[in-house]
Amino acid sequence: MMFFTHMAFALVVALTAYHYFPSANLYIFIGLILFGAMLPDIDNKRSKISSKMRPVAALINPLTKHRGIFHSVFIPIGIYFLIDSFLEGYYGLALSLGYLSHIAIDGLTPAGVNFLHPISTLRLHGPIMTNSFVEKILLAVLVVVLVWMVV
Ligand SMILES: [Zn+2]
Repeated sequence: MMFFTHMAFALVVALTAYHYFPSANLYIFIGLILFGAMLPDIDNKRSKISSKMRPVAALINPLTKHRGIFHSVFIPIGIYFLIDSFLEGYYGLALSLGYLSHIAIDGLTPAGVNFLHPISTLRLHGPIMTNSFVEKILLAVLVVVLVWMVV
């Protein structure tokens, strides 16, 4: 999926999840979910997050394949427990929720994602080609949903 589709879906997730964390700071909550939604593509050297975090991406890229371990549920689960052990509150949950939102909609593409990599070969995939007309329709629908949620 394209960067903006991930961001739009993550915003929908953030605004929906925020109802369950009314004491959270809205801007930090949304920021963490959006940042979390960028993280899985650290395994793709052409992604936005890799270009912003070059030293980290340079370490990760030779060791992993795109949509391998960084597109599994194990990294966000690890992020959740790691952050939750240092910081009380919603921070770890928000970051891992954003991360999972990215994996979920990558699962709509024909290449799909293996949520349980490397334990299983179970691969979820769908019909929406990245950067296709159908993805642009999905993005438009997400934007309409966002406007509806905010207004
Ligand atoms: Zn991805």
